[in-house]
Amino acid sequence: MTPFAVELTFHGDLPFFLKSKTSKIKRRLSERTSVKDVIEACGVPHTEVDLILIGGERADFGAILTQDVVIDAYPPSAPCSTLFPEDRLQVSRIERFVADGHLGKLVRDLRLLGIDVAYDPTAEDRQLVETAAAENRALLTRDRRLLMQRAVRHGYYLRSQEPLEQTIEVLRRFSLSRKLEPYSRCLRCNALLQAAEKSEIIEQLEPLTKIYYEKFRRCPDCGQVYWSGSHFAKLQKRVELIRSQLKGEN
Ligand SMILES: [Zn+2]
Repeated sequence: MTPFAVELTFHGDLPFFLKSKTSKIKRRLSERTSVKDVIEACGVPHTEVDLILIGGERADFGAILTQDVVIDAYPPSAPCSTLFPEDRLQVSRIERFVADGHLGKLVRDLRLLGIDVAYDPTAEDRQLVETAAAENRALLTRDRRLLMQRAVRHGYYLRSQEPLEQTIEVLRRFSLSRKLEPYSRCLRCNALLQAAEKSEIIEQLEPLTKIYYEKFRRCPDCGQVYWSGSHFAKLQKRVELIRSQLKGEN
């Protein structure tokens, strides 16, 4: 077929993903190509794109390009909420996640806030993608090739390498600031904690803990016992720090 030209404009923070860091890219194509493939060839995973306009018309990822066109790609956060607000490619609120193996500290933060995050540091890429698809979880990663896999429906590329900033990014991207239930989930295995009678768990406690504490929670899956001991002050500080960064947000 006759070669044709595609001109892409990446809006909002999407130029973050481009080598050139400028927002416009021109491509020459010589075969029918999906808009998803053209966008991802520029380095932008499809999970980061909330709205695509081809010649001003809204399009899905599977739209096939065959002739000269102008394409606009917008992220979920872009200030373009008046364009097709009901017909976006991403879901604004997701409450279940799976994190890739390098994100232990982020996972701990999110679980501390009560957010459901599946995490296995030994999981291979294939397993992460399968878990995300089978359990309808959003995949959190810093590996953009992973997010480009077609089977990944929801996902997020963490911009920062710093756990606190990553935590704030996830809470903002998925509108979770008002859904937090700190201390409700096991930090080790992600299960929801249950109240436990002191008599049930007394054999697991150190002598001083037996004396000074009366309220306990236990993980029904891994057996970990939680109480408001000295370690708890550290966790409280972390929760307060995260909350202070989110003040006034939804
Ligand atoms: Zn547990």
